[in-house]
Amino acid sequence: MIRSRVLIAASILAAQIASATAACPGKFAVEVLGSGGPLADDARASSSYLVWIEGKSRLLVDAGGGSFVRFGEAGADMTTLDAVLISHFHADHVSDLAALLKSASFDKKEEALMIAGPSGGAAFPGLNAFLAAHYDPLNGAYRYLSKLLSGEVGAFRIAGFEVDATGEGATVILDKADFKVEAVPVNHGDVPALAYIVSTDDGAAVFAGDQSLLSETFDRVLAGRQPDVLIAHHAISGARGQPRGLHRDPGSIGEMAASAGAKRLILSHNMKRALDDWRAGRKAIRKSYKGKIDLAEDGMCLVIAR
Ligand SMILES: [Zn+2]
Repeated sequence: MIRSRVLIAASILAAQIASATAACPGKFAVEVLGSGGPLADDARASSSYLVWIEGKSRLLVDAGGGSFVRFGEAGADMTTLDAVLISHFHADHVSDLAALLKSASFDKKEEALMIAGPSGGAAFPGLNAFLAAHYDPLNGAYRYLSKLLSGEVGAFRIAGFEVDATGEGATVILDKADFKVEAVPVNHGDVPALAYIVSTDDGAAVFAGDQSLLSETFDRVLAGRQPDVLIAHHAISGARGQPRGLHRDPGSIGEMAASAGAKRLILSHNMKRALDDWRAGRKAIRKSYKGKIDLAEDGMCLVIAR
């Protein structure tokens, strides 16, 4: 009996230590929740990142499969988020959003949580249509959660913020006392898609998202901005070309990082097919980018200001 109580106390203490050390430290930091892509071949969660400001989880960027588990492991809290920023509606960027919102539906929050995302295109819904397809009280697939859209003040609610993905420049979507978020249209083949820039007085993090080298608006907005961290999606090996025009090859990622003057380049959206030839990819990036390069891992903490 005493022994089992000791064991229980020890396991509670271990859990407390784990949660106390789980938070990504610093005044401004990015935690990689999901460093993987659409293939379930590398034990990574799909695309997802958390922005910590002054020790609080404030922004979630994408919510791919596995981010539900990683969000909990990170010690993050849906009620402290100011927004969820969705880059586009490929499943590996958004499939755990419903699971995270279901979890949050047990919470209370004074203001509705902003869910931002791109406008629609021929083969993809826009953000508002996507939310309606899930939570419309009559026709939504998750109509049992329709109070997320229509619940009373004080209950956990969401509010869509649809950004024109065909625009010519950056749109400021949040301008708070302690940070700012801009959305920038990018080219991802026929998929309407956005990159996000999060900046504070201490620096900036750029979430380039899935994008091809035809992302001229992004290149223009980012030119010379010198972000502390640029997270680029690395889906193509060094040797191969650009399948279906959806992604930048490593040489183009290097040019993007050099043109932005990024202080640190993080390669995420990793899959075996790109990692198997990652040295060739790094060589192609090095042709134009001389800064620090790291491969993202789930749980990696990128501290911008301590
Ligand atoms: Zn994609």
